[in-house]
This record gives sequence, C-alpha cells and structure tokens, in this order.
Amino acid sequence: MASVERVGLFIGGRWENPPAARRFETVNPATREPLASFVAGTAADVDRAVTAAVQAFPAWKATPAPKRGSILLNAARILAERKERIGRVVTREMGKVISEGLGDVQEGVDFLQYMAGEGRRLFGETVPSELRHKFCLTVRQPKGVVACITPWNFPTAIPNWKMAAALISGNTVVFKPASSTALCGTEVVRVYEDAGVPPGVLNMVTGSGGVVGEAILDDPRVRMVSFTGGVETGRQVYVRSAQTLKKVHLELGGKNPILLMEDADLGLALDGVLFGAFGTSGQRCTATSRLIVHEKVYDEFLGRLVERLGRFTVGDPLDLSTGMGPVASADQEKKILEYIDLGRSEATLRYGGTKLTGGVYDRGYFLAPTIFETRHGTRISKEEIFGPVLSVIKVGSYDEAVRVANDVEYGLSSSIYTRDVNRAFRAVDDLEAGITYVNAPTIGAEVQLPFGGVKNTGNGGREAGTAAIEEFTEVKTVYVDFSAKLQKAQIDTE
Ligand code: NAP
Repeated sequence: MASVERVGLFIGGRWENPPAARRFETVNPATREPLASFVAGTAADVDRAVTAAVQAFPAWKATPAPKRGSILLNAARILAERKERIGRVVTREMGKVISEGLGDVQEGVDFLQYMAGEGRRLFGETVPSELRHKFCLTVRQPKGVVACITPWNFPTAIPNWKMAAALISGNTVVFKPASSTALCGTEVVRVYEDAGVPPGVLNMVTGSGGVVGEAILDDPRVRMVSFTGGVETGRQVYVRSAQTLKKVHLELGGKNPILLMEDADLGLALDGVLFGAFGTSGQRCTATSRLIVHEKVYDEFLGRLVERLGRFTVGDPLDLSTGMGPVASADQEKKILEYIDLGRSEATLRYGGTKLTGGVYDRGYFLAPTIFETRHGTRISKEEIFGPVLSVIKVGSYDEAVRVANDVEYGLSSSIYTRDVNRAFRAVDDLEAGITYVNAPTIGAEVQLPFGGVKNTGNGGREAGTAAIEEFTEVKTVYVDFSAKLQKAQIDTE
C-alpha cells in the first residue's frame, strides 16, 4: 500500500508529529483508498492546545480588529488560490461531487471575506441615559478560548464558518475536525497559518470525539464550544459542558420539507427537489428529506420525478457529469441501508432502495437515490436519515401540509413551491424552521445571512451573518458619568 501523508497536531504554531502516537487514517469513500494519517490526540494534547490558546489570547485580543480582519482577508485570498486543489480534497475525502467540493471551499472564501469586513464594524450601541451628563454604550469583547467541533459533511465550509467568526471577534481557538475528514480540516488550518494567524491563536487537535472532544468540553479554560453534528451528540455536548458552564452553540439535525402546492411551477419544483434531496447524496443538514405534495398534482409530479431519476447518474464524484457521488463512509452506508430496510416494511418503495454494485460501485459506498411513498407518521418520514432517501407524503390542503411539515422534532430548513404570493407569506409565518425558501429547495445558504434552526435543531444560536458575531462575543455595557457628582439611577428621578 502506498504510504500516505502523516499529518501532525497543530499546537502553538508548530506541527507536532510524535513518533509513538497512535494514528488513524481517512479514506476516499469512492475508492476506499487511504488519503492521509493523523495523530489520535489525547487529553494531554488537548491540555497543551488549550494552554497555547490561553497564552496567545491577550495579544490577539489586543490586536486591532481591522488588523485581525486583514489576516482573514489574506486567508480568503490563499483559500481562493487553493480552491481547485482543496475542492478535490473535499471530494476525495468526503465523496460530494466536484462542483459541490469546489462550492464547499468557495463558501469559506466568501465567509472569510465577509468576516474580514466585520473587523471594521463589530458594532456596539449607544443608548440614552435616564440621567444628565451620563453616556451609555455597549462594546463587544471576545470570550477567550473557544472550541470548534465540526462534522464531516461540509468539511471545509463549517470550520471556516466557525473559526473566521471566532477569530475576528478576538477569541483564540482549539479546533477538532470530524475524524473522517481530518485532511480537509488540516487544509483549512494551513491556510490560516500561511495567512499570518499568530502562533497559539488557532490550534488543531485531531482524534476521536470521545477522547479529544470530551477533553475539550471538560476543560474549564474553554469558555465556549461551537458544535455542529447530530442531535444525540449535541445533547451529550450540552450536558457535559454544563459542568464548566460554557456557552454552548449547537447546530444539529434536520428533516427538511418541501411543500409542493397544486399551483406550483412543476418543472421548477422538479429541479429543486432533485437538487435538494440528492445533492451531496442527501447528506446536507438542510437536505430535502420530505416532499409534501398536494393531491391534485401528486401523481403527475411523482411520475415526472421518477422519470428524471432514471436519467440521474451516480458514480465517480470527480467526473463533472456525475449527479451524485458515494455516501461518505461505511458507517453512513450501513445506517442508510438500515433505514431503507425499515422503509420497505412501513412504506412503499417507489424508486431505488439498493446498494449499487459492479464496476466503480464495488470500490466505494454507492447507493441508488431512493424514493418512498409514505403516510406521515412513519419513522422514515420523521427521523433524520442523512442520505439520498426522500419520503413523499400526499396531503389534501395547505393547512394539512403545514401540520405535517411541523410535526417533527427538527426545524432547520423548509420550502414551499407556490405561485400564490399570499400563501407563500403565510408559509413564512407558519413553518416551524430557522430557514424558509420560496420557490427554491431547502438547501443553498448564503454566508451573509444567519443560519440555524428551531426545536431540536439547536439551542437558539445562529451561524453566519452578523449573528455569528453575537455568538462569539460578550457584550460589555459601559456607563460614563461626566456629571462630577454621584447620580443614582431609579432614585434621582428629577
Ligand atoms: P456527529 O457524529 O455528531 O459528530 C460531529 C463532531 O462531534 C465530530 O467532530 C465528532 O468527532 C464529534 N464528537 C463525537 N462525539 C463527541 C463527544 N462525545 N464529545 C464531543 N465531540 C464529539 O455528527 P456527524 O455524523 O459528523 O455529522 C452529521 C450530523 O451533523 C447530522 O445530524 C447533520 O444534520 C448535522 N449537521 C448539522 C448542521 C447544522 O448547521 N445544523 C450542519 C451540518 C451537519 P468524530 O468525527 O471523531 O466522531
């Protein structure tokens, strides 16, 4: 077997590769070839990374925010220069098709540019005082050391979302990438290093969630953890972090619906459903996993959808003509196939439902795009599958569609296809979700807008946009009394 690159831990501005360390490898889900080897970090490694971040914090906090912004702008430029290469790393390590691999990297470029500009804003408020000769304002201050724990499905975009927002706000960072996409995480860290982020300001410890992740959560010097991943892990992160009273920012799962109304442009909706459900092999937190269709267009639309899927190509994700690549790992494949088995027992399989075999398929984790016709209430219609499996549910009215859409534990993204402007705005009011699209699928966030969900999708925070700055900063309230006498709020009422 060809030897693979041996990546170290990044602590205090140095790459550390202890020869005796336990290691793990990442593999290409399209070919099962190993890509790189990483240190399986320990609690002691986390301790050193947090110490480095603590030591680097005062100088980074004191660095003027516009200067921090110029370093992030360097990072944006370097990431853009490396886009083609890193986009291929994304595709090879995680399996999304190359156009989406490049999109993953572009999202980081966009966000770094956006956050670089925040270095010249980081706005506070000025507020009138109830007393004379008194000036009241707020300023934003960093929290200190923050941890960023990220999933594999947007393996460069999500680390960039978290780290750029944390760094522009003046925090120092300990980053733990998902183990199965540690090379993508490494590429992001190298960009920040080359952009001039000072030693200790950004540290990366690779290794398992159970060891590295929990050591981060247990360390009282880490004042915040920004976590994206599954609901069950998120719950554990929340509970464990309570011991040290950290701020916890959770971005978790989804069961995102498209409501297809009887007056919709069906051709437009067809493109949207295909991209929403089967883009990234259904492994986006915002992926369309439920299609709730008005009975008047149900048969026609489903027929057209199945016909289009017959022409949909699954294969080598580096090939530009491929519609859908593999799923991300053996674990993912196993879990999705279990849900497909469940679907066969509780719903009607309308398309797909198999592991693909023969030729390139035998080397990786390839599944057919899958459609079930089901009633609302089955497990496949309510649980997050996180794969290329779409549940189609027939309804008789807009009101029923909304009831079905809302009757799940999640609330990340949602969409309605309709030509009725009143109904579109009603859906914006009615759908329990952090994001609602009108006449577009549930995926496709833009970095300058807040991103996050309601119900079990999170704990109320938002990623991206200026909302990210609110997550990663403390607000300090400042009262300046220039009256030269003691003035008492609520007591001196004249
Ligand atoms: P996951 O299994 O929950 O893992 C996420 C991260 O947490 C990984 O880095 C993982 O490390 C780490 N981790 C695991 N156990 C931990 C523990 N006990 N303490 C601390 N960290 C721990 O999720 P995933 O399978 O990578 O990602 C898929 C999920 O992410 C889906 O549910 C999807 O909906 C969600 N997601 C949500 C959003 C959003 O913004 N709402 C965006 C993308 C994805 P290891 O890799 O070493 O296990």
